[in-house]
Amino acid sequence: MASFDNILSQKSIFKNLSVLSPHYVPDELPFRKEHLEEIMTVVSPALKAQKPRNLFIYGKTGTGKTCCMKRVMEDFQKIGEEKGASMHYVNCRIYNSRYRIMQKIMKNYVPELEKSGFGLPFLYEKLIEVCSKGEQMVIVLDEIDMTKDLDELVYTLTRSNDEIDGGGVSIVGISNKLSFKDSLDPRSKSSLYETEMIFQPYSAEQLQKILEQRVSEGFEKDVVTSSAINLAAAITSQESGDARYALKLLNKAGEVAEQDDKKKVTDEDVETARRKVEIDLTAETINTLPEMHQIVLYTICDLSVSGSRYARLEGMENSMLFSGEVYEEYERVCKKLRKRPRSSRWYKEYLSDLEVLGLITTTPSGKGVRGQTTLIRMGHEPKNVHQMLKRSLFI
Ligand code: ADP
Ligand code: MG
Repeated sequence: MASFDNILSQKSIFKNLSVLSPHYVPDELPFRKEHLEEIMTVVSPALKAQKPRNLFIYGKTGTGKTCCMKRVMEDFQKIGEEKGASMHYVNCRIYNSRYRIMQKIMKNYVPELEKSGFGLPFLYEKLIEVCSKGEQMVIVLDEIDMTKDLDELVYTLTRSNDEIDGGGVSIVGISNKLSFKDSLDPRSKSSLYETEMIFQPYSAEQLQKILEQRVSEGFEKDVVTSSAINLAAAITSQESGDARYALKLLNKAGEVAEQDDKKKVTDEDVETARRKVEIDLTAETINTLPEMHQIVLYTICDLSVSGSRYARLEGMENSMLFSGEVYEEYERVCKKLRKRPRSSRWYKEYLSDLEVLGLITTTPSGKGVRGQTTLIRMGHEPKNVHQMLKRSLFI
């Protein structure tokens, strides 16, 4: 009989699952003491009624940018109000335009904004009004590169300072993308990058320490072997140094062990978790691809499963596909799905996007084989990807 009593009385190897979630901010942030200190120093003028310089933070995913910023914000907000300073956090992946960002911030001052229907000029006027009472506002734009009209946003926020009498507005921008700097217009670039900070990826030893801390809070005592922790740290540092990935790996390893009714989390569970996390991450990437990309990838999968006809004709390994045969098949698949195929110029763009995401690899064929062409190969097990795409494309 299913009963909550039974379920609740089952012993878990987890002590506190939320500690392993990516949103949890631990009290201690090892290896980031200097970064915390530096961010605090940059924003501290706001607590003395002066306008801080804008700050730009760059670092790959999982290097601790968001959690450091959250930690600084907590401390800032404790004393900010009485000093006439405020800090606002915006995740630009969700609030991805100037209007939405302005609306999100100004909602804290003008509750009526909950109901939309107020234009940008109104939001801007309110911002000026609030800051002209002397408030120093620090706006944290996390994943800032996701903002569609970023140049306009930076311009609006920076320019507001010319009209504000008394207080000020400053920006902390955070991004995972190094190349994004080049896409900004020179004026926003120079305002945004008044101060710049870089977060380096963690080494295996550092990840090990970070994991040990989380394990002691998240799992029951002596459940996770130290060898399993080291393995998770080693795998992660080999791949990316992304602490979020390391935590995911460990969390999954715990679930695997628990499903098998084990009392300990071992290397074996970490290895199993690694495969599962890989599949999860691939699924996430695939599900967020635009439709045409999905169709191209589906075509590549389909051909990979049946094997390349062209390659067979050439007596080559048939997991390699020819760009031309994929395009021909793509046109057929589009027809079947009643979609208009895009030109081969677009098709090449899709291939390059799919390669950046690690979903496929491409190599030039060299001379001889059917002239110069591109050879394509799946980056993951085609069968898994095939299933995911079928679901997503309703095939
Ligand atoms: P980023 O914003 O750079 O992508 P996050 O700040 O979101 O990275 O960190 C990813 C995960 O790793 C979070 O769960 C965070 O708590 C954890 N983490 C990152 N750096 C540290 C650290 N120095 N100590 C403990 N946990 C960390
Ligand atoms: Mg982040």
